[in-house]
Amino acid sequence: MPPDLQRHRINVEGIVQGVGFRPFIHGLALKLQLTGAVWNHSSGVTIEAEGRREALLEFARRLSTDGPALARIDNLTQAGIPIQHSNRFVIVGSTGRPDASTPIAPDMAPCDACLSEMRDPANRRYRYPFINCTSCGPRFTIIRDVPYDRPATTMASFTMCSLCEAEYQNPADRRFHAQPNACPQCGPQIRFVDGRRAADHPAAVSEAMSAASAIRQFDKAMALGRIVAVKGIGGFHLACDATNDDAVAELRRRKRRGNKPFAVMVADLGTARQIARLTADEESLLTSPESPVVLLRRRRDARIVSPLVAPGNDSIGLMLPCSPLHHLLLEHHAALVMTSGNLAEEPIVRTNSEAEIRLASLADDFLLHDRPIHVVCDDSVIRPFAGRSLPIRRSRGFAPLPLQLASTGPSVLAVGGELKAVFCLTRDRYAYLSQHIGDMANLETLQAFQRSVEHFTALYRIQPLVVACDRHPGYLSTTWAKDFADDADIPLVTVQHHHAHIESVRAEHHCREPVIGICFDGTGYGTDGAIWGGEVLQVDDEGFSRVAHLKYVPLPGGDAAVQRPYRSALAHLWAADLPWDKALPCVDVCPAEEQTILKTQLEGGLNCVLTSSMGRLFDAVSSLIGIRHVVDYEAEAAMELEATAGRDHATSGYRFRLSDDVPVQVDPQPLLAGIVSDLNRRVPRAVIAARFHAAVSEMVQQLSQLVRRESGITTVAISGGVFQNVLLLQLTVRRLESSGFRVLVHREVPPNDGGIALGQAVVAQRFLATGRLPQRQDR
Ligand code: ZN
Ligand code: ZN
Ligand code: FE
Repeated sequence: MPPDLQRHRINVEGIVQGVGFRPFIHGLALKLQLTGAVWNHSSGVTIEAEGRREALLEFARRLSTDGPALARIDNLTQAGIPIQHSNRFVIVGSTGRPDASTPIAPDMAPCDACLSEMRDPANRRYRYPFINCTSCGPRFTIIRDVPYDRPATTMASFTMCSLCEAEYQNPADRRFHAQPNACPQCGPQIRFVDGRRAADHPAAVSEAMSAASAIRQFDKAMALGRIVAVKGIGGFHLACDATNDDAVAELRRRKRRGNKPFAVMVADLGTARQIARLTADEESLLTSPESPVVLLRRRRDARIVSPLVAPGNDSIGLMLPCSPLHHLLLEHHAALVMTSGNLAEEPIVRTNSEAEIRLASLADDFLLHDRPIHVVCDDSVIRPFAGRSLPIRRSRGFAPLPLQLASTGPSVLAVGGELKAVFCLTRDRYAYLSQHIGDMANLETLQAFQRSVEHFTALYRIQPLVVACDRHPGYLSTTWAKDFADDADIPLVTVQHHHAHIESVRAEHHCREPVIGICFDGTGYGTDGAIWGGEVLQVDDEGFSRVAHLKYVPLPGGDAAVQRPYRSALAHLWAADLPWDKALPCVDVCPAEEQTILKTQLEGGLNCVLTSSMGRLFDAVSSLIGIRHVVDYEAEAAMELEATAGRDHATSGYRFRLSDDVPVQVDPQPLLAGIVSDLNRRVPRAVIAARFHAAVSEMVQQLSQLVRRESGITTVAISGGVFQNVLLLQLTVRRLESSGFRVLVHREVPPNDGGIALGQAVVAQRFLATGRLPQRQDR
């Protein structure tokens, strides 16, 4: 016996199940001539390794550095135990405690090894649309229950053939315990339902059809400009040829989509480069296994996609094929529109039968498959920012990966806001954010929300001790949270909207120190009943105080102004004592009768809501300078304003007037007067838009310096939907950093309302820890 023989027990927590972790350990142990065992259990993986001291050290080192692509080690403990003189290294069966939980991997795009097999005519999975392995393929969307084993997935009904079974059982195989493992003989199949044939001969659609012929029919439908509902990983897409103006226009009409951009799936990076200008960082975001939609700068000379894909927009959302099926579909098409298979803001369609009903008026034909989707999951959307990603929608490829919190805390449920609903459940050090669920405006979304909460609480064995929601009494999520709290007999904590935004970015960065929170947003319910959204908050673990905000402006008709930015413009002009001059584009576009009504409302304060919303100021400026007066979707006017400003920004802009009181009133009057004067001097819109962005970032810098002088706080946290604007974000971060601030921006959750559940959750955890609600809310 060698004198330095040792045995170590290593516990690993993180994303270590269903990602090829045990075969990796097995292989590594064999390479280093270690004996012992590895097994899965309900809170991770445990390894016992026996061998020489140096070999064990090397094992521990490579364990953390050489792991499989999808694995993520969050915690690792190691201890010496008595040697057992084992003579081989084995993978033993799973053990489980019923109350424990371990993170589940998200759905990942096919890996290179699977893609090359799929393209190899000699391989038995040649052109098989469901090829996968432990490094890729569906996870979250097929899991019904834990432990993550085949019977608990939607693959349960497919019995593996002997070849697949052999791979599945072989620890040396890259499909060892790959739960979705399948092949053309034993796995899921696709079929094409031709809408025209289905109507005439219903019987014709059920006939067996090879994958090749289904894809040929799909190709034909695209060539004819038809719209096909395609069942993918987390739900249905509506697909059409992105190069065909008529097809794109027809899809837009059927989806009642207005001008909202469609995402485009392109065959490869080469095609993406012809459509958008790509940096190396952007290329790596596109090719990442999460396969998100990446919002990119469109080439002016790009002729490949129809201009109707993203009208009036200088950016375009591109993604690469996110599944083997999509790789096959893109073989003969440079670019296909792939938009969510739903009507307006309803949840994305999940099952074949649901598709045939709900998508009947949207799709001509259907490309279906028979692997059930248990959980819907939309495409994720990101914007590149400073070489990394700024999440816009965190969904497929990311959900349900947990975020790590700064410390272990009690389990809570936070329900988010009203738009872009995402909830957050915590357990120990993990915050599990749901996939994007949609706008909580209809019964279908509410049901999807309910279903998802039940699924997450069951998967992760979480019993929340408190539920958190927004302070807005009118949100459906607030009502839902109240009912949930009543049923479960647990406390309800309401969290102010912008406080939650800032807490979410603090939580992401494990920040425990006080911050200056810059929250620029569309709409959020203030503690005084006004609509907030241009807020500077001082935030620490005790709560928040409002140190500055955009001066209140009365907004006639409230929400009506959101669809019609010219109303925000007129309200802002009125509040700034600037005349409604017919020469101004925003005045010109407003009908005379409406002007009369607006004036009456503003002067009498009738049917007006007070708002400090920065989103509405962006809308107002967009309309004021003639860019966009009426919008089809939230933030359209602001996005076009950003696009107009382009990348060349002025160094000095207009001025906001800051009051001497507390909270500081930030009055845009001088800024608006400056814009009007520039308009009269016929200064180009691009210059005005750039100056406006510069002015907002200067104002943030000025206020932050003011707060730092008073409080000594040197960290600034930036959040809120307005900061989806990367031009503004970039200018602001640059200015703050040049003034010596540490700046926290979102990297994991969106700055929009899709991120607030995380902030609500940490506030709720602190409530449980201290028994106190956030203090100093109403200063
Ligand atoms: Zn693979
Ligand atoms: Zn098989
Ligand atoms: Fe918000």
